[in-house]
Amino acid sequence: MSKPAMVNLLDLTPSDAEELLREFAHANGVGAYRGSQVARRLWTAPATGFDAMVEIPKAFREQLAERFTLPRLTLITEQRSTDGTRKFLFQMHDGQAIETVAIPDGDRMTFCVSSQAGCALKCSFCATGAMGFLRNLDTYEIAGQVRELAMLDEPLLATNIVFMGMGEPLMNWPAVDKVLTILNKPNGFGIGARHITISTVGWLPGIESLAKRPEQFRLAISVHAPSDALRATLMPVNTKFPLADVIAAAAKFDRRVTFEYVMLGGVNDATPHAEQLASLARECKAFVNLIPLHPGGSMGFVPTTPERIAAFARQIRKKGVEVAIRKSRGIDIAAACGQLRVERQPRRRPVSADEHS
Ligand code: SAH
Repeated sequence: MSKPAMVNLLDLTPSDAEELLREFAHANGVGAYRGSQVARRLWTAPATGFDAMVEIPKAFREQLAERFTLPRLTLITEQRSTDGTRKFLFQMHDGQAIETVAIPDGDRMTFCVSSQAGCALKCSFCATGAMGFLRNLDTYEIAGQVRELAMLDEPLLATNIVFMGMGEPLMNWPAVDKVLTILNKPNGFGIGARHITISTVGWLPGIESLAKRPEQFRLAISVHAPSDALRATLMPVNTKFPLADVIAAAAKFDRRVTFEYVMLGGVNDATPHAEQLASLARECKAFVNLIPLHPGGSMGFVPTTPERIAAFARQIRKKGVEVAIRKSRGIDIAAACGQLRVERQPRRRPVSADEHS
């Protein structure tokens, strides 16, 4: 009889993994409860490997290791900002590198996770866009970023997750869908849905899929320009999914939506832009987040001055729209999208998204 294929437990939803482990325990003559004990060590109390599950009999641990895997991500570098932000570069089994950022803020610890290696969308101010698309991350590679940080000698435990690292999460929906379950369920990381934000350029099929999930996951839309003409120059995806359709999808999404708006000096920061942006936000009752441009790797754009950002915010607020100016974090460690990897790695040949679908 041929050997059964190895199963990666970290690519399954917590409930599926537990069911499988209970059956396996039972079939191997130890109580099914042993399967539940192992399942706890996937996410809730993560273990570095079967060896580390000291509460499990050694013989059963050896049987587990013959049938199942718990793949790790390799931490290549860590950078610490003077403001407490920490940025991690992880290597995948095929050598691809991705970034994860941990941002402490009072009682909160927000992890900014990557969903793809590279990105196909080529937004003109974004360092990840300049790399091109390399590949989608698997479920275990996305959830694994949170898991690895929980297994550091001094564990970092996320209270909030934002999909604002490398990649477009809604172009990797099957993996992201499962990751949301792992992050949210009590037998996963148990992070409340309202504390998990998916950020997208406005990839419409993905917004529809997200809207079908019953949990209150947050949606953030990278708007960055209030008209099609300007947006198309910054975000090529606007040709495929024009602003009006994205705004309509946001209006239909019956949960809170945030607009992300990177302030690009002399490009999208004039008074008429504020007025147009405010009226779009009113259409879908969105909250507006103004993001100071992260200077590292920002491709020739210049940041809007803090005074102008403040005035822009006032102009939006005057129209009755809620607006906040995002604090720039980790400026000294190149913590914006794609910036650490760009510093550390030579560019590779990008592939088109279709080659990987
Ligand atoms: N693809 C998704 C998520 C990844 S980017 C999206 O576009 O929403 C997360 C956010 O960082 C986006 O709003 C993106 O536009 C923004 N961003 C990219 N480069 C930046 C830079 N240099 N400075 C500030 N924000 C940047």
